[in-house]
Amino acid sequence: MDKRTPQNCRWAEPTLYLPFPYWLEAWNTPWSCRRDGLPRLLETTMQCRACPRFEPRCRDGVSWAAEAAAPLVP
Ligand code: SF4
Repeated sequence: MDKRTPQNCRWAEPTLYLPFPYWLEAWNTPWSCRRDGLPRLLETTMQCRACPRFEPRCRDGVSWAAEAAAPLVP
């Protein structure tokens, strides 16, 4: 099971990457959640630990956890 953190959730985004004026809050709230459409600044990432709406982040249909478990090919 994936560890539930903003780094692993497909809906989380670094606040610094959001459009103005959201990115202005990046210093105080480094992570935001886009699960509801409009960004929601995460005052704390603790809520992600038990979030029922967590979805693993993936790249090209492969979850990061599966990618990390795959052997490295030279
Ligand atoms: S609040 Fe839930 S949906 Fe939003 S980033 Fe955290 S785990 Fe993901």
